[in-house]
Amino acid sequence: MHKPIIAIDGPAGAGKSTVAKTVADRLGYLYIDTGAMYRAIAWKVSQADIPVSDTKSIVSLAMRTQVKLAIIDGEQRVFADEEDVTVQIRSREVTAAASPVSAIPGVRKRLVELQRSMTDQGGVVMEGRDIGTVVFPNAEVKVFLTASAQQRANRRVQQMKEMGIEADTEQIAAEMRDRDLRDSSRADAPLVQAPDAVLIDTDHLSIEQVVDKIIHIHDQSISEVGKK
Ligand code: C5P
Repeated sequence: MHKPIIAIDGPAGAGKSTVAKTVADRLGYLYIDTGAMYRAIAWKVSQADIPVSDTKSIVSLAMRTQVKLAIIDGEQRVFADEEDVTVQIRSREVTAAASPVSAIPGVRKRLVELQRSMTDQGGVVMEGRDIGTVVFPNAEVKVFLTASAQQRANRRVQQMKEMGIEADTEQIAAEMRDRDLRDSSRADAPLVQAPDAVLIDTDHLSIEQVVDKIIHIHDQSISEVGKK
């Protein structure tokens, strides 16, 4: 049976990661967090002390860096040149650097190629900002998740608490606004809803309800292929 590619895009804090992971688990599909890949490059940039304005050095570093995702004990781990950076890439410093680093076309070109090479037969849930528009414009299932700014900031603060990081909701909301504005207004692969993506506002929905909606869209897409 053909297994679709499920593209999940949307702004920070819309619930993409939890939803994408759960959908992948329920379907037995591979889960790929492309944001973690941009974060891994941003982490390398900060380790090398390269200013984010030095795009030439950043592209050259991105070309040399091996970014890998692996499932270890049921958890997705992120590696940059064999070093496990899963925890480090969630710091505020890396979060802030990931957005300008990901706006550099040479960095995007490198990671988009890598993302496309990660699946040749479907059966994957990939989350990010440009999956339905650029990475897999022919994905059979495309979803754009949104939520209000307040809800998104609350969720991010909660996630950070769970990781043992204290944060102020107002400050996180301001940082998210900056990041979303930069992600949406960049020239290369801006954060936009693909015209054929289904918009899901997660404000008043539980994770299970969002997951059920996506699985329903997935099942419909399979039965449509079956009819052809
Ligand atoms: O999803 P996450 O918040 O971890 O992504 C970190 C940053 O990586 C985002 O702010 C965005 O700038 C960038 N990103 C991107 N394209 C993707 C995924 C993430 O530009 N497909």
